[in-house]
Amino acid sequence: MNLREIGEFGLIDRIRKWMAASDPALVQGIGDDVAVIEMKTKILLVTTDILIEGIHFDRSWIDPYRLGKKALMVNLSDIAAMGGIPKYFLISIGLSKNLPLSFVSQFYRGLKEGAKRFGVDLIGGDTSLSQKIIINICLLGEGRKGNLLFRKGAKVGDSLFVSGTLGDSALGLKILQKKGARRGPKRLIEKHLSPCPRIELGQAIAKHRWATAMIDISDGLQIDTSHILEESGVGARIWEDRIPLSKLYRKWVHPYSKDPYQMALGGGEDYELLFTAPPEIKKRISSLALSFKIPITCIGEILPKKEGLRIIREDGKNYSPSRLGFDHFR
Ligand code: ADP
Ligand code: MG
Repeated sequence: MNLREIGEFGLIDRIRKWMAASDPALVQGIGDDVAVIEMKTKILLVTTDILIEGIHFDRSWIDPYRLGKKALMVNLSDIAAMGGIPKYFLISIGLSKNLPLSFVSQFYRGLKEGAKRFGVDLIGGDTSLSQKIIINICLLGEGRKGNLLFRKGAKVGDSLFVSGTLGDSALGLKILQKKGARRGPKRLIEKHLSPCPRIELGQAIAKHRWATAMIDISDGLQIDTSHILEESGVGARIWEDRIPLSKLYRKWVHPYSKDPYQMALGGGEDYELLFTAPPEIKKRISSLALSFKIPITCIGEILPKKEGLRIIREDGKNYSPSRLGFDHFR
């Protein structure tokens, strides 16, 4: 059965059944002109992200289940970067008439799985015809005013920390494009296809109030560091050889990049957290890392604005990157 046969409203009816919401604060979910939520919080977090076939994903290497899940995960990562609690989301999709219903049901199964894992409810969306698949999610969350972590706030002398390992997703994508999903190292490919946002870690970092600024790494370490620097009015140095690289990454990176650090610095979609905090709390950050079983590494330090962003190489030489990372229009 394809979408032409069931029609837009037949599809929405099915989506409504698949995604039944349970939150008592939800007065009206899917099925009316708007969703209605009874608000208990005064701080509302709102974020949106778009995924377009051929730009962000290719159906030859991602299945609809992972696509649905990933669409939600990339939005959750933005709430993680604030230290917020994700609550509700809307999804607008553009689909072609010939798409099988099973594609959409698998897509929503992935969404549902992700929604369950992070305790969020689907409350509405929109559906349209489109030649290429377009997915737009708008995610709502809540936070406590004094706890939220912005991009602004980094201070000269702060250390720069990053969670997890970097570059795995970018390398996973390169391998997918070259070899396909079956022939590459599974863990690297999964890092690209099924990223996991650092929601609980983000909340813990925000709650302790040690950090001064935070962002999630979606476009690449360099470019996302530069966002913190711009918003905070500071500069930074990053020691290349402190950038955390996974064992698998080190093993597979060579045919794809001569310099192993380039993909970790410039590659996107790690969805790790990058934050600044005073150096005296390094020990407390280590014990947080232990309790979450997620590595947190100090990779640099915040400098005065005039220093810009400097990358210190293993041999001690340093440079300012000219091209920071991914930019849709460049
Ligand atoms: P409208 O004409 O007001 O845009 P729709 O017929 O598009 O209303 O939508 C009816 C209901 O279904 C609304 O609650 C809307 O939020 C929801 N909805 C529409 N498309 C989707 C979708 N792809 N996923 C989830 N909910 C959807
Ligand atoms: Mg509509």
